[in-house]
Amino acid sequence: MNRRDEHRSNIINKLVSKAGLRPKLDAFCVECIYDPYSDGTWRKQVADCTAKRCPLYTVRPKVTNGEQA
Ligand code: SF4
Repeated sequence: MNRRDEHRSNIINKLVSKAGLRPKLDAFCVECIYDPYSDGTWRKQVADCTAKRCPLYTVRPKVTNGEQA
């Protein structure tokens, strides 16, 4: 596993260990789009997703006030 995959897996594992459906949805989007070597946090990259036909598009995580983009 390279560092990019390792970093992404760490985030996914942390999210899926939380209770409830929301963190699992977030983890799915991280798995789908997040690239640690690209600009922005995972949340920013997911918020910037343009795949409007994806069934999760309207419920994907968004950038919150306390998080840096
Ligand atoms: S909303 Fe975007 S990031 Fe999330 S699963 Fe769908 S295509 Fe991937």
